Amino acid sequence: MLDPTTLTLNIPHTTKPRVVIIGGGFGGLNLAKNLKGKDFQVVLLDRQNYHGFWPLLYQVATAGLEPDAIAEPLRKMFGSDKFEDFYFRLVKVNGVNTAEKTVHTIIGDLAYDYLVIATGTKSNYFGNEQIKKNAFPLKQIPHALNLRSQLLQCFEQASMTQDPVLQQSLLNFVIVGGGPTGVETAGALAEMRKHILPSDYPGVDFSKMNIYLIEGMDRVLPPMSPQSSAKTLKYLQELSIHVKLNMLVETYDGQVAKLKGGQLIKTQTLVWAAGVQGALIEGFPTKTIERGRILVNPYNQVMDFDNIFAIGDIALMKTEKWPNGHPGVAQPAIQQGKLLAKNLHRLVTGQNLEPFTYHDKGSLAIIGRNRAVADLSKKMQVGGFLAWVIWLLVHLMYLIGFRNKLVVLSNWVYKFFTYQSGTRLIIRPFVRKGDLVKRRFLSKYETE
Ligand SMILES: Cc1cc2nc3c(=O)[nH]c(=O)nc-3n(C[C@H](O)[C@H](O)[C@H](O)COP(=O)(O)OP(=O)(O)OC[C@H]3O[C@@H](n4cnc5c(N)ncnc54)[C@H](O)[C@@H]3O)c2cc1C
Repeated sequence: MLDPTTLTLNIPHTTKPRVVIIGGGFGGLNLAKNLKGKDFQVVLLDRQNYHGFWPLLYQVATAGLEPDAIAEPLRKMFGSDKFEDFYFRLVKVNGVNTAEKTVHTIIGDLAYDYLVIATGTKSNYFGNEQIKKNAFPLKQIPHALNLRSQLLQCFEQASMTQDPVLQQSLLNFVIVGGGPTGVETAGALAEMRKHILPSDYPGVDFSKMNIYLIEGMDRVLPPMSPQSSAKTLKYLQELSIHVKLNMLVETYDGQVAKLKGGQLIKTQTLVWAAGVQGALIEGFPTKTIERGRILVNPYNQVMDFDNIFAIGDIALMKTEKWPNGHPGVAQPAIQQGKLLAKNLHRLVTGQNLEPFTYHDKGSLAIIGRNRAVADLSKKMQVGGFLAWVIWLLVHLMYLIGFRNKLVVLSNWVYKFFTYQSGTRLIIRPFVRKGDLVKRRFLSKYETE
């Protein structure tokens, strides 16, 4: 194994101000791109070597798309011919020393003149360690691949058991969280149940497959308009998804989910899409953190620091219109990244900074074929086929990379006409930690 002490970040000395960006997601990427041609050395640090397009992550998890269709290598976007004095390093940042102006990684420290935290969020289990251990989160590509393997393994095993109780638990799927990720995953699973699974597994009776969507509030898609929530509930019910509102999952041990009120659901698969918290970096004073996010002023400057900024999901900017901060969606991150590039230039050239104003471009969610909802403005909502077309176009437009757009579009067209998707592959079997029975079962199929 490679000893990390033999590596260094290897960033050349510079006389230009150095901007260190942690995270190449929607915020970090748009900041870095817009710093091109400005007089900075730019260092982008990310624990993964790609930019992930998370709105399509559920399609990877439900075997609709391959992961490479929703990710773009960061180095491909920032090759040295494209951007002089830009450096990408594949490394996780563990902490910041604000007094010494350095970031800390396992392979060494790096000094910064300007630091931007753009680390996004991670799943929030609200302190429930048992659920954290046993549930399937859906925040990163490895999560989606785990879930895809788990779903396909459940169908395979359901076709091989004579035990009705075990078979039912393999065919029960619980999705916790009625936000866009939960709704979209439930819809995609229901489409699989209707169009794909009966022909793949002719021996299994898929009328027994249950999809539960559990939401703690009194409606699905709580951030969207009540009209869109109501339409979404109707679409989910048309797809025979069991929606439980005002409901919480209290425990899940990998076999049985216990709901508030005592109902038990035997299931091998519980997807956790119920909450997120900021992916914080150690080293910030506690007064700069509120509800897991970093407090920033209208210029995205972290409270009490002139040279440290936070953008996107990790940033909490309270304004009159958004007293609890901006919604945790891609647009605030994109817009803050672009504006911060301008403001960093203004800062070094002695100009006044421009405050951030969020341009809300509306919200969308898809529930399955020809079913979607769109809040285009406060007063204008559309649903059904029109919203579905808008959803497809908007997602294609914002997906990074021409190749990715082509791949995704061709997959969607193929699926539309054939009702098929070609990615039902268990490339890397999923085995829950400590599940020795399944490990032994799967190891029989391993080759030398
Ligand atoms: C499943 C899912 C579906 C979604 N659907 C939608 C949707 O339909 N529409 C919409 O607008 N929004 C959607 N969102 C939300 C949207 O993706 C986020 O709001 C957006 O990604 C925020 O951008 P960001 O730059 O703040 O963070 P991210 O895009 O998450 O990027 C954070 C980056 O930081 C890196 N990172 C984190 N910690 C470290 C560390 N310690 N060291 C180094 N690197 C680190 C990560 O690897 C990542 O690349 C969805 C999110 C998810 C998870």
